[in-house]
Amino acid sequence: MSTPALKIYNTLTRTKEAFEPIDRNNVRMYVCGPTVYDYAHIGNARPLIVFDVLYRLLRHLYGPKHVKYVRNITDVDDKINARAAQRGITIRELTEATNKVFQEDVRALGCLEPDVQPRATEHIAQMIAIIERLIESGHAYAADGHVLFDVPSMPEYGRLSRRSLDEMLAGARVDVAPYKRGDMDFVLWKPSKEGEPGWESPWGRGRPGWHIECSAMSWKHLGETFDIHGGGIDLVFPHHENEIAQSCCAFGRDVMARYWMHNGFLQVEGEKMSKSLGNFVTIHELLHTEKFGGRKWPGEVLRLAMLRTHYRQPIDWTVKALEEAEKTLDDWYKKVESIETDKAEIQLDPDFAEALCDDLNFPKAVSILHSLYHKAGPPLAGKEQIDAKYRFKKAAHLLGLLQGRTSDWFEQRTPIEIDKQDIEKLISARLAARAAKNWAESDRIRDELAAMGIALKDNKDGTTTWEVKR
Ligand code: AMP
Ligand code: ZN
Repeated sequence: MSTPALKIYNTLTRTKEAFEPIDRNNVRMYVCGPTVYDYAHIGNARPLIVFDVLYRLLRHLYGPKHVKYVRNITDVDDKINARAAQRGITIRELTEATNKVFQEDVRALGCLEPDVQPRATEHIAQMIAIIERLIESGHAYAADGHVLFDVPSMPEYGRLSRRSLDEMLAGARVDVAPYKRGDMDFVLWKPSKEGEPGWESPWGRGRPGWHIECSAMSWKHLGETFDIHGGGIDLVFPHHENEIAQSCCAFGRDVMARYWMHNGFLQVEGEKMSKSLGNFVTIHELLHTEKFGGRKWPGEVLRLAMLRTHYRQPIDWTVKALEEAEKTLDDWYKKVESIETDKAEIQLDPDFAEALCDDLNFPKAVSILHSLYHKAGPPLAGKEQIDAKYRFKKAAHLLGLLQGRTSDWFEQRTPIEIDKQDIEKLISARLAARAAKNWAESDRIRDELAAMGIALKDNKDGTTTWEVKR
């Protein structure tokens, strides 16, 4: 079976292009990661999920050993300094604790771990090296303990966001500072005061600007030029524009990454979910508190809810979308209950593969998954039906869905107020009542459990199993 060709919408060219890796044996992707000063919100979950599916698809197409996915951790930033001071803890304590929760969140969303998760503070030497190259080549200048990128020194600046310098000046909130030659010039390095984190550098003790961090980490782990660079649409300008400026000018290359991919926003009432607007829901509170719809939600539900929309389109955040996704997952998990393992010889459904290869057409892929689900039942029977179930599961896996066991899926959804031991006790009491032919008592217990949302199934061997019904 031939593999469909991958096409990607490239923000750089504003067109869907055939994806051709620089080296098929080493396909390289960099995605901007979190600034670990506070819990990630479910808007931040969107790029995590989108690029996780792309990573899975690339591994499927090129082989797991031939793909390298780097997602950084920004652990030096003024927001981090401010939050640590406010909480009276060290910066390291804050970033360690926040990163730990972040890693748990991403795992709960069913994402694979990237091959490398570099930390900015471990790449200061590379940042200094890039800044030195920029100064030497006339693209940056030091002034007052700062180093700034000289934007007019790069005629192609603005190529990604397609804005002219005049438009940028009109649209951006530029910091006017005496040490800046031009208003658009941006900070590569800045001085640190006593008590602020800082590193020795040729320009005195200081710390990096945000943009230089990603240029340094992608260089160290993926090289001067690599295949895919991703993030949310808000990163196009200025962050990604500035990354391109730094890397291309430092390395004397036209290209930093060949394909730039950006996900659309998760919105609340038409506005981007963001920390600054205060309209956010953290992944952590969705998973672990009962603030939304009065209950906790499995990460997989959020994942499927997001995959129902094209990755470049906005999504409106609603609890209803979670409810719908959960119902679907209930059906899907039941379908694969009898097949716990994978079957290597089962091929990925070609239509499903084609949908994903068409610039990650998630809605189409999910609708094909629905039809694979329906096919995996009568009139097919026996081995044919089992193979159809495997085919359905294989496709679901590529979206990072149905990765767990069916029993675990229903068990994790047991309402917390229900104690599993209580349920088992009631089931034993019911079995005893049945043995004594006390049908009224047996029915009463079954109704009591039903009222708690527990459905019973009497098996042929005389045992009774249970599951949570919603
Ligand atoms: P930040 O911590 O703001 O740098 O964001 C981390 C990642 O989440 C970046 O790729 C952002 O573009 C992305 N992001 C932030 N807010 C949203 C949102 N509401 N919807 C989708 N992506 C977002
Ligand atoms: Zn970045």
